[in-house]
Amino acid sequence: MSKAGLQFVERAPKAELHVHIEGTLEPDLLLLLAEKNAISLPYRTLDDISRAYQFGDLQSFLDLYYLGASVLVEEDDFYELMWRYLCQCRNEGIVHTEIMFDPQTHIQRGVGLETVLSGFSRAIAKAEQDWQQSVLLILCLLRDLSESEGLQTLRQAKPLLEQITAIGLDSAEVGNPPGKFKQAFKLATDWGLRKVAHAGEEAGPEFIKAALVELGVERIDHGVQCANDPELVLSLAQAKVPLTVCPLSNVRLKVYNDLNQHPILRLLDSGVQVTVNSDDPAYFGGYLMANFNALERALGLTELQSRQLVRNSFTGSFLSEERKTCYLDQLQ
Ligand SMILES: [Zn+2]
Repeated sequence: MSKAGLQFVERAPKAELHVHIEGTLEPDLLLLLAEKNAISLPYRTLDDISRAYQFGDLQSFLDLYYLGASVLVEEDDFYELMWRYLCQCRNEGIVHTEIMFDPQTHIQRGVGLETVLSGFSRAIAKAEQDWQQSVLLILCLLRDLSESEGLQTLRQAKPLLEQITAIGLDSAEVGNPPGKFKQAFKLATDWGLRKVAHAGEEAGPEFIKAALVELGVERIDHGVQCANDPELVLSLAQAKVPLTVCPLSNVRLKVYNDLNQHPILRLLDSGVQVTVNSDDPAYFGGYLMANFNALERALGLTELQSRQLVRNSFTGSFLSEERKTCYLDQLQ
């Protein structure tokens, strides 16, 4: 089988639109920060952590994820976390990235939003200066918490809005429909934020429709469950709604038992604006290129499909039309 598609992706400048910065916390940094900040963890060695990473579903992953995030305390910790991911972007040719963060995970532990954002901003400024890395931030609300808590978080973030491009909605999907956050998304709209939401990862296609209609989101994170609703596939394709699909994540969280059952290429061939992303790469088996590599192995990527996936990563972004054109021109 030709690997021309994969080779194209490796060389091409790319964008990543769905990565949670807390999900880039690698076991070695987790152990290092736990020791520095005197946080006690139920495991001591990298082997212990590797065993803990054999979670079975979204909730058991989230339990581990929040435990991991608890080692992030000082501004330097957030700097280091962001810096490591941005270095990975440089290594993989990810020239533009739209990064999600979960303020509530930190605020709940008494870590201020200013601390979180000043660490991130310092790393972003350095990467912008050192190799022209392009970065936008997406503030995500945790959907298993109440909307009033979400609104409170948004108001806390208001003085820092110039550092934030979009609002998002993540965490445990089942039982927490998009409509629960109507007011929060209305407020975010009033403040000029762009809008995304996780929908159709574990819950059904109706969550995708609700996110579009009730929250007015411009982009769907995951969205793979649309594959069970042919009419929705057609309307997503016609309306050019980008889906930020995360193949390795879907297999690790058992949305699909095997990558060869994944609908991403079928959706792409149906005209849906799908993109490839890493979600929580430290926990799900790899960064963006690992996701492309896995897709190539399981499904085979033609050069045409690869080009379209990379193009979609820019056209589905929140970059200005001018910046999108500039990046797309580099793909010729
Ligand atoms: Zn996600």
